[in-house]
Amino acid sequence: MYKINENYLKLPGSYLFSNIAKKVAAYKEANPQKDVISLGIGDVTQPLCPAVIDAMHKAVDEMADGTTFHGYAPDLGYEFLRSAIRDNDYKARGVDIALDEIFVSDGAKSDSGNIGDIFAENNRIAVCDPVYPVYVDTNAMSGRTGEYLPEQEKWSNVIYMPCTKATNFAPELPKETPDIIYLCFPNNPTGSTITKAQLQEWVDYANKVGAVIIYDAAYEAYISEDDVPHSIYECDGAKTCAIELRSFSKNAGFTGTRLGFTVIPKELESNGVKLNALWARRHGTKFNGAPYIIQRAGEAVYSEAGKAQTKEQVAYYMNNAKVIMEGLKSAGFHVSGGVNAPYVWLETPDGMTSWDFFDHLLANANIVGTPGSGFGPSGEGYFRLTAFGTYENTLKAIERIKAL
Ligand code: PLP
Repeated sequence: MYKINENYLKLPGSYLFSNIAKKVAAYKEANPQKDVISLGIGDVTQPLCPAVIDAMHKAVDEMADGTTFHGYAPDLGYEFLRSAIRDNDYKARGVDIALDEIFVSDGAKSDSGNIGDIFAENNRIAVCDPVYPVYVDTNAMSGRTGEYLPEQEKWSNVIYMPCTKATNFAPELPKETPDIIYLCFPNNPTGSTITKAQLQEWVDYANKVGAVIIYDAAYEAYISEDDVPHSIYECDGAKTCAIELRSFSKNAGFTGTRLGFTVIPKELESNGVKLNALWARRHGTKFNGAPYIIQRAGEAVYSEAGKAQTKEQVAYYMNNAKVIMEGLKSAGFHVSGGVNAPYVWLETPDGMTSWDFFDHLLANANIVGTPGSGFGPSGEGYFRLTAFGTYENTLKAIERIKAL
């Protein structure tokens, strides 16, 4: 008789966003006349920019002609895209990354889950709390997280690093030593960042204790402050301890188009084994490559027109973030984030739980947000609003919150 991976059975309930979707569907069914606005899910709303669309049209035409048709993509991704990444995301910031250290993929969600394949089961992970739930869930699926403790909403073998008001929403170095450290800055859901000097402390720590940092920089394009690093490789010594995850989803609207990449420097070794080689083996065996048309679309993000147009989209969302921040502040809410990230993190009023506030906002303002507790136990008492809506809906939503 075949056996299933029983780690899946340990995962608690359904995924945060399906719980939200169920609640919203029930509310809409009971109140069909209400205009419900979502400032909840982290998906973008602006269409792909013209430079990207032009590149995709051109690539489609190439695929239609036998002399320019493309079949399987190279394992690591096309060189035209990896060169654009190397030059624009790294060289332009003074960071030297080689072409064969860049692995093009279908996005940071897949990479953040799949990267666990190259690590042994008995590694202990440390995560920011709250954070993007995929890190913990995928490690739970691989049997690294121990048992789920429902009353604490924690896993027994995970080191949680609370990021609360008391820590300025940044993690402190853990007291117990982890093997794998997940850092995500700008952070989802808090929108918080750390400075280059603070990130340097993490790099020094990881090199000292022999840990690897998995650095998720999916929101890098939203950084507006000069002392916030765009890449972990801006820190000295990061190449011997860090993997970086990147995405085209939030900077260029590729959530439905799918493209991302992972950087694994060749200096990164465990007992003399290069992680770059392991990931190359895994990538070549288990990943079919991002489609040619999509990689051409990604290349266009780095063209002069693409840079200007995607910058405009980021500015559009960040203007929404400003509207949310200022509106909530004037309504007496305590807010953070929203400066280097499209996420605004607010304290629930009157000691309400995150889910109570979710219900309150849905019933009384017809607004959907995301309960902070869904991102980790330290998210209880907080709530996330996203700036990814349209400007008109964002304004309307904030007026409704002010009128509560
Ligand atoms: N990393 C973080 C921190 C995210 O918040 C998200 C999506 O919300 C992702 C990764 C997913 O990125 P992608 O769309 O490239 O899979």
